[in-house]
Amino acid sequence: MEERNEMSQGSPPGAEDVAREGRAKSYARLHRRLDLAGWLLNALLLVLLLAAGWTKELRNVAYGVASARPLALLVYLAMIGAIFELTGLPFDYYGGYVVEKRFGLSRMTLGAWIKDSLKSLGVGAVLAAGLGELFYWALAAHPEMWWLLVAVALILFAVLMAQLAPVLLFPIFFKFRPIENEELVERVRRLGERSGARVSTVMEWKLGEKTSKANAALTGWGATRRVLLADTLLERHSAEEIETIVAHELGHHVHRDIPMAIVVQSALVVLSLWVVNSVLLWATPLFGFRGLGDFANLPLVLLVVTGVSLVALPAVNAYSRWRERNADRFALELTRNPAAFISAMRKLAEQNLAESQPSRVVEFLFHGHPSIAKRIAYAEQVQR
Ligand SMILES: [Zn+2]
Repeated sequence: MEERNEMSQGSPPGAEDVAREGRAKSYARLHRRLDLAGWLLNALLLVLLLAAGWTKELRNVAYGVASARPLALLVYLAMIGAIFELTGLPFDYYGGYVVEKRFGLSRMTLGAWIKDSLKSLGVGAVLAAGLGELFYWALAAHPEMWWLLVAVALILFAVLMAQLAPVLLFPIFFKFRPIENEELVERVRRLGERSGARVSTVMEWKLGEKTSKANAALTGWGATRRVLLADTLLERHSAEEIETIVAHELGHHVHRDIPMAIVVQSALVVLSLWVVNSVLLWATPLFGFRGLGDFANLPLVLLVVTGVSLVALPAVNAYSRWRERNADRFALELTRNPAAFISAMRKLAEQNLAESQPSRVVEFLFHGHPSIAKRIAYAEQVQR
């Protein structure tokens, strides 16, 4: 699609719009730089752990604390986790708290931010411990077939989590409640009927105590499938605008985007594990590891997995933008209200301080959604 200025139709861009886009650009640039710096630091640490042999020393310390392999692995994971948490903390604090406050987006107190960070740390630690134990059990017990076993287990886990996350994981961080606005519930129900998507559950997502940003999402699988609408969205958008946003989420449902995302992720998992296997076979004698199941090789495993994810990132994002474009088209066909779609997009850009027109390179590499300017241009095409 040809690139056009968001404001080329209708009124010319006002000074306010230009200033807003400028602020949005500095906000996005700051986050990208922080992400890049954090990522480089992690990669450097992983290389150091490997090259200086520190990972083998930490493994020996772990076996000094506990002689059984599963327990020693937990001790090792705790030490590695502590190193990365501590070095990453300044980035998390600055990017997750200071920057959000500076741009007037966060509504959290420092205490609330710390509480949320501790919760993420807890959830992350449980998942990392479970994954680590599974990974090194498979490597030690089935050195030929380990990557297939791990891939199958991860895929089953992803399917299970798609069902359980809305009721098990999200409530740890957010409050939800049924939408009380009867008129809106009725609109959504009619929309669902017209689209053939039987999504009966629409929940209000209490985002407003944390941020002024708005969001909407389709989550869950089967009985846990639901559309989530942030209270920040409900506050500022008209009924017609909310309708187009719900229609977009229903588009994801009708297009089976959650199962499709799991298929794409699964392919990526299998590919990553296959590359990890090849690298481990080559590197085990080189680094003097005690076989494939020696967990001192973890920094190498993480480097390989990160490398594969980075290489795949533009392709994964291009896939996501394609699915998002399809959901937009679905919403416009279902509601036949491009004007509401366009004003919803403008409001979202303003509320979330989103770059309307990121550079082509930035959009290609990092964006999972088409730019707001492109989404508006598409709706304008439909309007005519
Ligand atoms: Zn979407």
